[in-house]
Amino acid sequence: MCLIRMRTTSPEHVDVVVVGAGLSGIGAACHLQRRCPDRRYVVLEARDRIGGTWDLFRYPGVRSDSDMHTLGYSFSPWEDAKAIADGPAILRYITDTAARHRVLERVRTGHRVVSAQWSGEDGCWTVDVRRAGSGELIQLTCDFLLICSGYYRYEHGYAPEFAGADRFAGPIVHPQQWPEALEYAGKRVVVIGSGATAVTLVPALARTAAHVTMLQRSPSYVISMPSQDAVARRLRRRLPAMAAYQAVRWKNVALMTLSYQLSRRRPRLMRALIRRETRRQLPDGYDVDVHFKPAYDPWDQRLCIVPDGDLFAAVRRGAATIATDEVDTFTERGVMLRSGRELEADVIVTATGLQLLAFGGVALTVDGDPVHLPQKLAYKGMMLSGVPNFAFTVGYTNASWTLKADLTAAYVCRLLNHMRRRGYDRCAPADEDAALTREPLINLASGYVLRSVRDFPGQGSKRPWRVHQNYPLDLIDFRLRAVDDGVMRFARGTATPAVAGRNSTFQGSSC
Ligand SMILES: Cc1cc2nc3c(=O)[nH]c(=O)nc-3n(C[C@H](O)[C@H](O)[C@H](O)COP(=O)(O)OP(=O)(O)OC[C@H]3O[C@@H](n4cnc5c(N)ncnc54)[C@H](O)[C@@H]3O)c2cc1C
Repeated sequence: MCLIRMRTTSPEHVDVVVVGAGLSGIGAACHLQRRCPDRRYVVLEARDRIGGTWDLFRYPGVRSDSDMHTLGYSFSPWEDAKAIADGPAILRYITDTAARHRVLERVRTGHRVVSAQWSGEDGCWTVDVRRAGSGELIQLTCDFLLICSGYYRYEHGYAPEFAGADRFAGPIVHPQQWPEALEYAGKRVVVIGSGATAVTLVPALARTAAHVTMLQRSPSYVISMPSQDAVARRLRRRLPAMAAYQAVRWKNVALMTLSYQLSRRRPRLMRALIRRETRRQLPDGYDVDVHFKPAYDPWDQRLCIVPDGDLFAAVRRGAATIATDEVDTFTERGVMLRSGRELEADVIVTATGLQLLAFGGVALTVDGDPVHLPQKLAYKGMMLSGVPNFAFTVGYTNASWTLKADLTAAYVCRLLNHMRRRGYDRCAPADEDAALTREPLINLASGYVLRSVRDFPGQGSKRPWRVHQNYPLDLIDFRLRAVDDGVMRFARGTATPAVAGRNSTFQGSSC
């Protein structure tokens, strides 16, 4: 219970503040609504609409690259025919789920959280919020702070400077800021990049463009997946919606886990399987080894999924070409490559990726001490050592984000209910194990991760500080293991439990 409430009538106090109304924040709100029905909570969203990623990205063809039976919420069946869904369908699903679970009225859009201060004396967070439009700074207090801000910067993506960019006569577009009125039908388009966005854009643009060239510095693994799930189709005819959804969800979790484990344990076998399938999709004599043979092992970086092999189909019919080369300079006519070849273009798309941003840029302090995220360890990949009444959502990178987001939100509810039952009002994990070694929170070798993962907290080498990236293992950990595991410390009133970890800024406070 927040003591500040007793001293002053303002600011407004709630039990839980959720930051962000994307897939994770809306999911967390639904969990709170269902599992902690008597808690007062608000969802603060910086933008003027909910949906996060699925509202922001508007480039042609924008879609998921994992199946919606696992990217969807555990409690809200995905019922569309398409398993790999387009952005507008996912946004509709988020909005419909929010409406069905009556969480829309708890969402305050145009509220950007800029900082939050924990006071051990008062036993609560003071949250500083900038309102859109007026720019007014307001404050709220809350007992528990749950950050669901996604993992990247919304203002702009990663856009390296290309020499000669000012010489190019046509538009240069980043997919994160796709201009609605951009004309590309009948034009020559060069898409720079080889990640999920590039492989989505190329076949979508190739439907009407004169020609699309995907210019990549190095290849990625590209895997074709059926856009519709035949098993889901059959089960939906025979079972109630929720039963069919859960069955397909578990089938896909099993396949995903198997494919990830095979990639990590038998990378050569996996490379060979992917190569065989890629060859099958491309015309005879196509140089698979130049354009589709990455220098790394599968799952060192995320695999790129293409529904029904649409990228390969665009290459087969000659509507798209892949160039594996490097940009030397932009010219008036297009892009000059290191090899000396020039790609002529009317439009250049720089699908060069995202800029990661930890915790939506929210600056945290605990009893006046700034929380330096890189010095912190993440407990279960969702709480910070020595930071009280606080959790964050970072989904899986080797599977659908929501599988972990769901577990995180349900665990926060479990924690809140445990504290209420036992009369505690404060909790924080303590990293006192001197044998713990530190690793990056996100274990991918992709450029966008390597550029900024040092700004994030780390993970430890052992449970419960280790991020498994394994849904079945996490399910056991999050659902079945005791909340009071000896690492999580609890306290009530102004008691002072031993929550001071090796990296703790929480030493001596009254949690
Ligand atoms: C194009 C694209 C495709 C993707 N496809 C997949 C996929 O197929 N499968 C998969 O698993 N993952 C995918 N991802 C990752 C994707 O981001 C997650 O799946 C998921 O949408 C993340 O949801 P989220 O709510 O955690 O974050 P977001 O969708 O990023 O939402 C975060 C919300 O928090 C708000 N916010 C941020 N900071 C603040 C602040 N300080 N104050 C208030 N509000 C704030 C933002 O405005 C936003 O609305 C994709 C990402 C992109 C960019």
